[in-house]
Amino acid sequence: MAIRAIRGFKDILPGESEKYRFMEEQARRVFKNFGFAEMRLPILEKTELFARGIGDHTDIVEKEMYTFKDRKGESVTLRPEATAGIMRAVLEHKLYSQGRELKLFTIGPMFRYERPQKGRLRQFTQINSELIGSKSPLADAEIVWQAWEILRRCTSAELRLEINSLGCPECRPLHRKDLDLFLENQAGELCEDCRRRSKTNPLRIFDCKQDRCRSILKFAPVIKHYWCPECSKHLGKVLDHLEIIGIPFVINPFLVRGLDYYVRTTFEIIAQGLGAQNTVAAGGRYDGLSQVLGGPDLPGVGMAVGMERLLILLDERDYSDRVQLFIAALGADAREEALEWLRELRKRNVCVQMSYEDKSLKAQMKQADRLKTPFVLIVGEKELEDEEAILRDMETSQQKAINLDDVIDEVLKELGISGKKESSQA
Ligand code: ATP
Ligand code: MG
Repeated sequence: MAIRAIRGFKDILPGESEKYRFMEEQARRVFKNFGFAEMRLPILEKTELFARGIGDHTDIVEKEMYTFKDRKGESVTLRPEATAGIMRAVLEHKLYSQGRELKLFTIGPMFRYERPQKGRLRQFTQINSELIGSKSPLADAEIVWQAWEILRRCTSAELRLEINSLGCPECRPLHRKDLDLFLENQAGELCEDCRRRSKTNPLRIFDCKQDRCRSILKFAPVIKHYWCPECSKHLGKVLDHLEIIGIPFVINPFLVRGLDYYVRTTFEIIAQGLGAQNTVAAGGRYDGLSQVLGGPDLPGVGMAVGMERLLILLDERDYSDRVQLFIAALGADAREEALEWLRELRKRNVCVQMSYEDKSLKAQMKQADRLKTPFVLIVGEKELEDEEAILRDMETSQQKAINLDDVIDEVLKELGISGKKESSQA
C-alpha cells in the first residue's frame, strides 16, 4: 500500500499555497502598520510549559495534545497554541522591561489531536499576535482591531465580533461560588462532560454544545452580574474604542475561553459559511500567564486567526502568479539569444519562461496558452537574420516587430514595468 499523509494533516499544494501566502501577506502588512515584530519559535516544547500555561483541566491539555517521550525520556509536546511559547521566550530572553510594551506576532503550525472535519485539522496554521506589558483597554481594542483588519482584507464574508469580560481575581471568585452552587443543584441533568467540568473547570461548561445542557445553562449565573467596577470600566473603554474605530460588536455573556489564564476581555470573530466550526479568530487578555510560568507581573492580550478557516472564506479570485512573458525561440542560435533575455528580464523581476525543448512554434504557442501568459516573444532563424523579434499580445493577437537591441526595453514597456534594474536584494 502506498504511504499516505497522516489523518488530519494536509498537504498544501500549488493553487492553495498561493492563498496561504496571500493571507500571510495581508497579516504581515497589518502587523507592520501596528508596529508588531515577528517571532519564530520552536514547534516542540517541554510538556510542562503547556500543562502549566494552558491549564491541566482544559480540553487542550486533557485530550488534544500531541505528547510523547523523546529518546532520553523527556516529555515533549507539539505546540497546540502559540501564547505559552511566546511568553516562555519573552521570559527566557528577558525581553520585557518596566513601562515598555512588547508587540509580537508569529505565524505557523499548531497541533491538536481532535476529530478532523471541515475547518478542524490536527495540524493547522495560526496567525498570532500578542501585546505584552500593557493593562490599557486600548491594547485590547488594538488586538481585536488587528484580527478584524486581517479578516476584512481577506474576505467579504459576513463577520460578527462577540465580546465578553471574564472578570478578574477580584470578582471571579464570587461568580465561581454561585456557579458551583448552581451546578451542584443541576448535576443530575447535565451531560457527563459538564459534570466533570463543573468539578475541574466550571466556566468551561458554557462551551457545551448539547441542547439539554444549553437549556439548563441559560439560567446559570453569568459573570457580567459579578463584574467589579474596574472590570466594568475596562470593558466599557474597550467598547468605546471599538466604536470609534468602527468595528461592530455584540456582547455575549456566555462567551468563555477554554484556557485558564484568560481574564477580562475575551472575544471571538464568527463568520457565516463555515458550518459548525464558525469561529475564525479568537483572543483575549491573559494577565496571569507570566506569573504562572514563573515570571514577573506582566499583563498581556493576544489573538489567533485560524488560517484553514479563513481559507474557506477567501473571496473567489485568481491568487496564482502569472507568467508575464513566454519566449518562443526556435533553433540553437535563437535559443542562445533568448537565454540572454531571460537573464536580463529575470534580473528585473519579470516572470519569464521558455521551453526546455527546441519544439515547433505550434507546440511552443500551445505551451504559452496553457501558461495564460499575456505576451509571447517569438524569435527564429529568420528573425535573427532580420535583427528583430516578434512580440505577440495574446489577448488581441496583435504582433509587432522589435529591433533586437530594443527587446528588453520594449518588453518592459509593454508590461508596464520601469526599466530600472532592481538590486538583487529586492
Ligand atoms: P474551537 O472551539 O473551534 O475548538 P478553540 O477555542 O479550541 O476553537 P482557540 O484555541 O481559541 O480555538 O484557537 C484560535 C483559532 O484557531 C480558532 O478560532 C480557529 O480558527 C483555529 N483553530 C483551533 N483549533 C483548530 C483546528 N483543530 N483546526 C483548524 N483551526 C483551528
Ligand atoms: Mg478547540
